[in-house]
Amino acid sequence: GPRVVIIGAGHAGGSAAGFLRQYGFEGPIVLVGEEPIVPYQRPPLSKAWLKGEADADSLSLKPAEWYAENGVDLRLNTVAASLNRGARTVTLNTGETLQYDVLVLATGARARKLPIPGADLKGVLELRTAADAEDLKAALGPDRRLAVIGGGYVGLEAAASARALGSHVMVIEREPRVLARVACEVLSNFFQDYHRAKGVKFELGAGVQGFEGEDGQIRRVVLSDGRKVDCDAALVGVGAMPNVELAKEAGLACADGVIVDLQARTSDPAVFAIGDVTHRPLPLYDRNFRLESVPNALEQAKQVACDIVGRPAPAPEVPWFWSDQYDLKMQIAGIPFDADSILVRGDPASAKFAVFHLKGDLIQAVEAVNAPPEYMAGRQLIGNRKPISREKLANPAISMKEVAA
Ligand code: FAD
Repeated sequence: GPRVVIIGAGHAGGSAAGFLRQYGFEGPIVLVGEEPIVPYQRPPLSKAWLKGEADADSLSLKPAEWYAENGVDLRLNTVAASLNRGARTVTLNTGETLQYDVLVLATGARARKLPIPGADLKGVLELRTAADAEDLKAALGPDRRLAVIGGGYVGLEAAASARALGSHVMVIEREPRVLARVACEVLSNFFQDYHRAKGVKFELGAGVQGFEGEDGQIRRVVLSDGRKVDCDAALVGVGAMPNVELAKEAGLACADGVIVDLQARTSDPAVFAIGDVTHRPLPLYDRNFRLESVPNALEQAKQVACDIVGRPAPAPEVPWFWSDQYDLKMQIAGIPFDADSILVRGDPASAKFAVFHLKGDLIQAVEAVNAPPEYMAGRQLIGNRKPISREKLANPAISMKEVAA
């Protein structure tokens, strides 16, 4: 088979190697990863693992032996430094040059940094890698104070886990509500209330102008209005940026991410891109978008593996995502593009409800809290573009089965 080189040994890159072997690909695979450990899952880093409910080994996508046993040449602690598309080579930071027939870019994303004074103080943390998670965990515990900058999913999950470990938590969010970028107001209010009831404090509509420390260690977050929040550590959770530099420098078409099609092909037929780094088509919404989720990484890893072994392209999936906070299991399907109304099924006060984003009688997205049937049926209805009756959907006494019928 062709010589496959995968750059980035994260969820997408690791899974692509796995699917290739699963589908019977027998050619050489080199998997190059900057991190020191075998490909692993990131979601538990803010959830079960952070709370101490999952051990490090359980994070690995595959056991460490799998790579050698399956002829995958895994290079850890190794950075792909440049790409020569004409010669079909990748140069590594070790000085070595790898030849490829097929290149897969799976470089993921990195935590966005805040370019403000004090950002390099000890105790100013981010949460992207297992190493970051170790640092964060070491900063948590009874009577330790954690400031979380950014009320997105990662920040809120870390806040919930920090509370479980006994830390005092203050979430500082620039927008007037948490999850402002990704969720509707009903959901933002629900999560704020739930976290408050668990003892989390919030500064909403509050920017951060800097961090102050003593002896190199953070002691305070300075808000835009000059007020100060005392803390022992600050987690900066203000989003992620795609690692597009290699692709850009090599002249591949990029937008917010490397532009790919539904086979995960880039503008160069010998180069694929998968995972958080891609700007991909969403045929259901007639749009291109960059997703940051495990299901997306897996879907594109399948697309590339199918293409390489000559299998038909898998049918596009409805995008989905999940978040766990305290005893809340939140599941999201679809993206609320073009929605013209919101319908809440169930009562948020009961912590069991779903928010449907509708475009006419079509479901564009569903955000379900402790409501698996609403999530499951919603995801199916999004995928098959079937109009629903709003009256039925709004009535929790009518089963989702009947709504979907
Ligand atoms: P990554 O997993 O980031 O892997 C990219 C890898 O490439 C990294 O190891 C990086 O070091 C390496 N790399 C980059 N450049 C180079 C280079 N030049 N040379 C060599 N190696 C390179 N998603 C969900 O669906 N549900 C969740 O609940 C959820 N929770 C999350 C919680 C946290 C704390 C985080 C950080 C993410 C969470 N996600 C969640 C998102 C999910 O983890 C990502 O979507 C997924 O990891 C994307 O996979 P990827 O392979 O594209 O990128």
